[in-house]
Amino acid sequence: MAVATIDAAKQRARVAVRTAAGELARISREIHVHPELAYHERHAVAQLAPFLEGHGFALVERGVYGLETAFRGDWGHGPVTIAICAEYDALPKIGHACGHNLIATAGVGAAVGLVAALEPADARVVILGTPAEELGGGKVAMIRHGAFDDIDVAMMAHPMAVDIADPPMLGVAHVDVVYHGRAVHASVAPEQGRNALDAVVTAYQAVAQLRQHIRRDARLHGIITDGGVAANIVPERAAATFYVRAQQPRYLQELKQRVQGCFEAGALATGCELEADWHEDSEYAPLRSNRPLAEAYRSNGEALGRRFLDVKNVSTGSSDMGNVSQVVPSIHPTFGIGQMIFNHTPEFTAAVVTDVAHESMLQAAEALAMTGVDVALEPELLRRIKADFAAAGR
Ligand SMILES: [Zn+2]
Ligand SMILES: [Zn+2]
Repeated sequence: MAVATIDAAKQRARVAVRTAAGELARISREIHVHPELAYHERHAVAQLAPFLEGHGFALVERGVYGLETAFRGDWGHGPVTIAICAEYDALPKIGHACGHNLIATAGVGAAVGLVAALEPADARVVILGTPAEELGGGKVAMIRHGAFDDIDVAMMAHPMAVDIADPPMLGVAHVDVVYHGRAVHASVAPEQGRNALDAVVTAYQAVAQLRQHIRRDARLHGIITDGGVAANIVPERAAATFYVRAQQPRYLQELKQRVQGCFEAGALATGCELEADWHEDSEYAPLRSNRPLAEAYRSNGEALGRRFLDVKNVSTGSSDMGNVSQVVPSIHPTFGIGQMIFNHTPEFTAAVVTDVAHESMLQAAEALAMTGVDVALEPELLRRIKADFAAAGR
C-alpha cells in the first residue's frame, strides 16, 4: 500500500491514542491504587472493558477461556488478525511494582488507536485481557483454551528502566517442595525427630552451591515458605518455592534435574520424605521475539522520539508472553519510565504512575498501534514475519 496511506493511518492511530490520553491515565491510576493479585483482577477488568466498548469494540466478552478475569474484544473482518495483550495483575505486598497498570493501558490504548486507523476490511483487531502474569501463567491457560488459534501476530509492551525492542526473556519452571519429617519435643527427645526444616535448609544451601556453576543465562532463586510452628517442636513439615530459569529450553530441563538432586540431598541427609511439584503445565517458555515485527516496532518508536538500547546480554526475567511467542509471531518490547530503577521494587511501584511514565505508556500505545498498521497494510511485512517465525521454529 502507498506510503502516504500508511502514514495517514498511523496519524489517525496517534490522534485516537492522544484523544484518549486522559482516560488512559485515569484507568492506569485506578488500577494502580487497587492492586489485585493473579486471577483476582476484577476491578481492573471493570475499568478496561467499558473503555474498549466506548471506543469501537462492540462487545468485550468477560470470563473467556475458562478464566474469570480474562477478556476478549474483536473488531473488523480483514484477512490478518492482530492481537494485543493487556496484563493487569500486581505483586503481593508491593502492589504494581511491575507496572502492569501501564501494560493494560498501553494495550487497550493501542487497540483503540488501531481500530481508529483501519477500515474493518483491512484486518481483525483482537484485544486480549490476560490475567495472572506474575503467578500462574494466565496466557499459558489461554493458549490451552485456544485463545491464540486464530491469531496471526501478538504484541504487548512492558515498562522497564529502558526501551529494548526485543529483550531476552528466560524460560522458567516453578517448583514447590515440601518435606515431611517427624515432630517431637526438641529438647526432651530430639533423637526421635526427623527435622523437615533441616531438609529445606540443606536443599536451599545445595541450590546456592549449584548457582555458582551454572550458565550466566540461567537463574536459580527461592524462598522458604514454611519453617515449622514452634522452636520447641522439631518441624514435621517445612516447605520452599524455587524458580529455575534458563534461556535455552534444553538447559532448563538439565537444570531442573540438578535442582531436583539438591532437593533429594535434603531428604537423604535428614531422613525426611520429599514431595516436589514442578507445575509443568504452567512452565514459561523463553521469549522468541519476531525480528521483522520487533524492527517495525522499533522504527515506529524511534519516529516518536524513543531511543532503544541494543544490549543483548541484559539481565532479565520471564513472561508467559514467551509461551505465546512459541505459538504465534510475537513481540514483547520494553519501554522506559524515565528512571533507572528495577522492576519488583517499591521504587518502581511509585514510578509507574508519574506523568513521565504515563507519557511513555502513551508512546508505547502509539508505537504498538502504528506497528499494527504496518502489519495490516503491508502484506510484504506480514510475509517476512511469517517467514521469520517458520525459520525460528526449525
Ligand atoms: Zn513482574
Ligand atoms: Zn511484569
